[in-house]
Amino acid sequence: MSLQLFNTLTRKKEEFRPVRDNRVDFYSCGPTVYNVVHIGNLRSFLFADTLYRWLRYGLGHDVRWVMNITDVDDKTIRDSKRDHPEKDPMEALTLFTRKYEELFFDNLKRLHIERENFYKNPRATESIEEMQELIRLIVENGIGYEKEGSVYFSLEKHLKGAQYGKLVNLRLDQLKTGTRSLADEIEKENVQDFVLWKAKKEGEPAWDFHLNGKNLPGRPGWHIECSAMAKAAFEEFPFDIHSGGIDLQFPHHEDEIAQSLAGYKKDPVRYWVHNEHLLVNGEKMSKSLGNFFTLDDLKKKGHSEDAIRFFLVTNHYRTKLNLTEEAIEASAAGLERIRNFTREVGKMKTTPEKREGVSGIRDKFIAAMNDDLNTPKAVSVLFELLVPGRFDPEERMEFIIFAGKILGVSLVAIEQEIPREVIALAEKRKEARKNAEWALSDELRKEIESFGYIVRDQGEDFELIHESS
Ligand code: AMP
Ligand code: ZN
Repeated sequence: MSLQLFNTLTRKKEEFRPVRDNRVDFYSCGPTVYNVVHIGNLRSFLFADTLYRWLRYGLGHDVRWVMNITDVDDKTIRDSKRDHPEKDPMEALTLFTRKYEELFFDNLKRLHIERENFYKNPRATESIEEMQELIRLIVENGIGYEKEGSVYFSLEKHLKGAQYGKLVNLRLDQLKTGTRSLADEIEKENVQDFVLWKAKKEGEPAWDFHLNGKNLPGRPGWHIECSAMAKAAFEEFPFDIHSGGIDLQFPHHEDEIAQSLAGYKKDPVRYWVHNEHLLVNGEKMSKSLGNFFTLDDLKKKGHSEDAIRFFLVTNHYRTKLNLTEEAIEASAAGLERIRNFTREVGKMKTTPEKREGVSGIRDKFIAAMNDDLNTPKAVSVLFELLVPGRFDPEERMEFIIFAGKILGVSLVAIEQEIPREVIALAEKRKEARKNAEWALSDELRKEIESFGYIVRDQGEDFELIHESS
């Protein structure tokens, strides 16, 4: 059974085959760090995390997951000036964006998106040289041009040699825009060429940029960031998977493709995957509409992080999802049902009779996840296990732990005994420490953490604590 992924490029489910053997290079568009992310934004990162977990723990791939941090743009500059008017613009920008970057990773952690699972989290402000290099290539290839200190991407020149509109083409087609033809839409969106490098404005942070014997102080445009940072991280194009919310298809991702073709002469990505929006009363949750909730907002209303994650990941990523408190509560109840079951089963004495194995259930779970991450189906399969006395208790517990690892929520009651697998890993780590095999010991610690346990050293011995305790 292989993973079928819906590829926005072809608008159909395709068998996922890594470009390079077993390794999967996976890039997710990250946040712009100018405020606290809302639950809608978090839906896109949770989707990426679920895909990462399935690729790694479900399918055993070696995944290099990269997510950028956009720490320079109009909004970060504007608000850093507001918060630190007395500081030098560059210093203000750093102070301001680091605060929100930290809050962002804190939000991710609370939803069990672990920072150490990322291969890299490049910051835009620390990748300026790579972006300038790509802009130079685009200019050398005759597709970029300088005007009044800024550099632009000429769509007209690009269109002569390559396709543009691959992603949006399909999207518009899908939306059946009625009277508006595809060409109109593209033309409308692209009457102006898009910016690669913005000339410095007074009082703004800026970097020098030497292009064709001139210095053009300024800062990068948004689209160029992801192209250059993905190239810097993975080195080889095309890489495997690129994710983001559906609103990023156009123009952001379309422009990433265009820049890469124009500069590196390479298609950047094999599989483009996009999550649908989280809605509130039928409308997209967004900062600009003011209809948003942050993780803290929901926490204050009494919803746990686990319930929120369970709610988000157990709805399919390609369906619009309406956020209501009732829906989160229903998810919390489902999660509690599974946890209570494991608690009760834990108390029961094991019987000598032979019980049914769980391989049938496991196969159905795997088939659902392989079907374009059909998490709602996978979870419904999980509920089939909650029949007292039917299945082999150890096999069942092991499988529930595995499913929890894939969904990113512990499905086992907290006071439940520590799984044997985790104890075995901790014993192995104790051995490694004795033999001063620090790299191995570190690796084992990470593996233990992926089960939701923290290992604390007690002299030569260890203590295992569940991360939620
Ligand atoms: P931004 O920081 O605005 O670039 O957004 C970060 C990510 O969140 C992007 O992948 C967006 O597409 C995604 N996003 C924004 N709003 C929503 C929403 N209401 N539902 C799902 N994803 C969203
Ligand atoms: Zn991006």
